[in-house]
Amino acid sequence: MRTYFQKKRYQALLAATTEFSAEELSASALVVSPHFDDETLGCGGTLLLKKKAGADLSLVFMTDGSTSHRNLVSPEYLRRVRAAEGREAAKAYGIADRSCYLLDFPETQLDQQHPAAVKGLLALLEKNRPEQLFLPATADPLLWSPDHNATTRAALEAAKAYGAPLTLVEYPVWFWYHWPWVPYPWRDNYQAGIVGRLSRSYRLGKSAAVLFNKKVTISEQLKEKRAILGQHRSQMERHPDHPDWQILADVAGGEFLNRFFNGHEFFRLYRVNTQGSGK
Ligand SMILES: [Zn+2]
Repeated sequence: MRTYFQKKRYQALLAATTEFSAEELSASALVVSPHFDDETLGCGGTLLLKKKAGADLSLVFMTDGSTSHRNLVSPEYLRRVRAAEGREAAKAYGIADRSCYLLDFPETQLDQQHPAAVKGLLALLEKNRPEQLFLPATADPLLWSPDHNATTRAALEAAKAYGAPLTLVEYPVWFWYHWPWVPYPWRDNYQAGIVGRLSRSYRLGKSAAVLFNKKVTISEQLKEKRAILGQHRSQMERHPDHPDWQILADVAGGEFLNRFFNGHEFFRLYRVNTQGSGK
């Protein structure tokens, strides 16, 4: 933590949240990740601890990763590279290839595929019958992350249609992209509009401590989390032929990436379908 306000907010988050119990760590889980890297950014340390606790894990990537560098390489090339990186990351969490699913929706356009996304997730819930469903936090702001919001919406609807009791575990990613966690991202997202940015930052910043109720201490897992994030090479290292290749460390001058290596992962955990017919 660099600044006074970061320290204050972090303390508030720590005070508002309780550590995952042993049962919560060992519970089976289906992890829903909008892009190749969100699973590790948002819950990598927790997945390592779950693996250690013997949890049965499966992972689904919603989008195909094809879009982010289309000015530099072909979408087809990126899709192939990212899928391979995603599968490598899954392996590091002890997730077998057959439990790692790629739904392959076009990146940045998931919101246009809502019915198909719900159907895909529902099928995976019914196939895997997990105790927990990890999904992007409803606190991830719409402004930065339409695929994240579309994933959240699809996952919530799939959970409802599933009907059996399920523990939802929301994990934040783009939530951290606001002051005081990062400096005001003036230059990164100038087009997004200053007023919306300010009011959203203020609102989310103030309410951080009530958005999450659980944490997992991952100080022992940081090194391994970083190594697994490194498997997503196309997000972490510049392409050798393209010096202007954007990487995660470019976002908010590296401050955004730092937020995922503070020693805790935060979650909003709650039960749904408790009246539902059974497992
Ligand atoms: Zn993402």
